Amino acid sequence: MTARALRGPTDHVVVVGAGFAGLSAALHLAGRGRQVTVVERHPWPGGRAGRRDIDGYRIDTGPTVLTMPDLIDEAFAAVGESLSRRLELLPLDPAYRARFADGSVIDVHSDADRMAAAVREFAGPQQAQGYRNLRKWLSRLYRTEFDGFIAANFDSPLGLLNARLARLIALGGFRRWDTMVKRYISDPRLRRVFTFQSLYAGVAPQQALAVYAVIAYMDTVAGVYFPRGGVRALPDALAGAAADAGVRFCYSSTVTALERTGGRITAVRTDDGREIDCDAVVLTTELPQTYQMLGRTPRRPVRLRAAPSAVVLHVGCRAVAPEIAHHTILFGAAWDQTFTEIVRDGRLMADPSLLVTRPTAGDPTLAPAGRDLLYVLAPAPNLSRCGIDWSRIGAGYAESLLDVVQARLLPGLRDDARLLHVDTPADWAGQGMAAGTPFALAHTFAQTGPFRPANTVRGIENAVLAGSSTLPGVGVPTTLISGRLAADRVTGRAGRSPTTLDLAARSR
Ligand SMILES: Cc1cc2nc3c(=O)[nH]c(=O)nc-3n(C[C@H](O)[C@H](O)[C@H](O)COP(=O)(O)OP(=O)(O)OC[C@H]3O[C@@H](n4cnc5c(N)ncnc54)[C@H](O)[C@@H]3O)c2cc1C
Repeated sequence: MTARALRGPTDHVVVVGAGFAGLSAALHLAGRGRQVTVVERHPWPGGRAGRRDIDGYRIDTGPTVLTMPDLIDEAFAAVGESLSRRLELLPLDPAYRARFADGSVIDVHSDADRMAAAVREFAGPQQAQGYRNLRKWLSRLYRTEFDGFIAANFDSPLGLLNARLARLIALGGFRRWDTMVKRYISDPRLRRVFTFQSLYAGVAPQQALAVYAVIAYMDTVAGVYFPRGGVRALPDALAGAAADAGVRFCYSSTVTALERTGGRITAVRTDDGREIDCDAVVLTTELPQTYQMLGRTPRRPVRLRAAPSAVVLHVGCRAVAPEIAHHTILFGAAWDQTFTEIVRDGRLMADPSLLVTRPTAGDPTLAPAGRDLLYVLAPAPNLSRCGIDWSRIGAGYAESLLDVVQARLLPGLRDDARLLHVDTPADWAGQGMAAGTPFALAHTFAQTGPFRPANTVRGIENAVLAGSSTLPGVGVPTTLISGRLAADRVTGRAGRSPTTLDLAARSR
């Protein structure tokens, strides 16, 4: 089924926001011959993939787990470019190192044989066979979902009713994520490795639908990558390709209003006095701000539910042992209770599970010589779930998290660790993120696919939404897709531009 496109002229499109959604939309639109202007309030691209430089430490404040490089390549291919020409993307092996409270450790490899060998050593041959079967299931789930569910525009929920839906049901996509993984893996530690990603979707694995297990496909099967120069190198490269393809960028310029005549937006006004005429707009701003600019209140039967949030610490320290992985997940002993605390009860984790990232493992130049840079992410309740006064407890909580990292991963860390910067849910709220979460709306069933806030706006002919609050959802790969879906709404669905990966496959 082909989804509706905008009516009327779409020659000049203004994209509000230079995060991944805006950059992707700009690339796809420019590649399809549209004149594109991107307006961004910050002096650089990236949005939530933020940056902060402190005393020789080059800190990336947002995403660290980059997956699905073919989608990144697709964005470059839209203007005849390629990822490899613009960026050095290093595959991470292991993708993660998982450390459990009982002291056991397993490296997560995306290579099937290496991972099966690691699982055999960790939990025995039966679990290794279970892993291989789980991997097949995840891959089939991904193939079934991708075109018809993840990377699709919907005009109504009826758009879901197709042959793929029957296949998804047969694959167990509408059972619980945890239940499906249990079919293959009985070791409870190992199960966490393939279900913790449900936190990215904002739902506990026992409640999340198995369709979201595609997130586990993305990182444990398709692999995790790191751009040399830090994550910021990715938006810089996308913006560079867009600018070379003729996209005009207006940085340090905040959109304050949209001019309207009848049902059409005619111009975008900014705080620095610009009035930019447009035939269409793509808005990648937070949903409440978007609706406010559009003068619209969406009609929904139930209130939207925000995803949980996170506290993120950036730490400079003496160079740690080289074998400390790029990504380490420190699992606490508690698990079900941890989700209950964060998602349902709005409390801090009593027994924290943390993601510790060492970007200097991939690029030592991100810290001064002889030093390492650490990024510690602790899931936390969003502001609509709790009454935590972050200005009062934030600093103490950050110190307590450092104690956990020292006790479970890096003895002696506190001897000379310097806490460079901390972001709490209050800080995310201060940056305009609804409910103080950088992870947008939770991926409950009622907020997924055709049920997520749509990327078209009733009553306005030439505005399209993109970004993590609309289709398909939160994350770097998904927001890149959302930019492409927004471009499809503007121009009508275009055939995919061949990526370098497609071309390589064809020449084999
Ligand atoms: C701490 C953290 C960790 C994360 N970890 C991961 C991870 O490991 N893997 C992963 O895949 N994803 C992760 N994510 C999520 C991912 O970063 C986001 O889903 C994605 O970057 C969102 O992109 P976006 O384009 O939708 O929104 P944004 O990046 O928010 O882009 C919107 C842009 O619009 C601009 N803007 C807003 N209002 C205006 C205005 N009025 N005028 C002009 N410009 C405006 C903003 O400045 C911003 O640049 C993480 C995010 C955070 C913050």
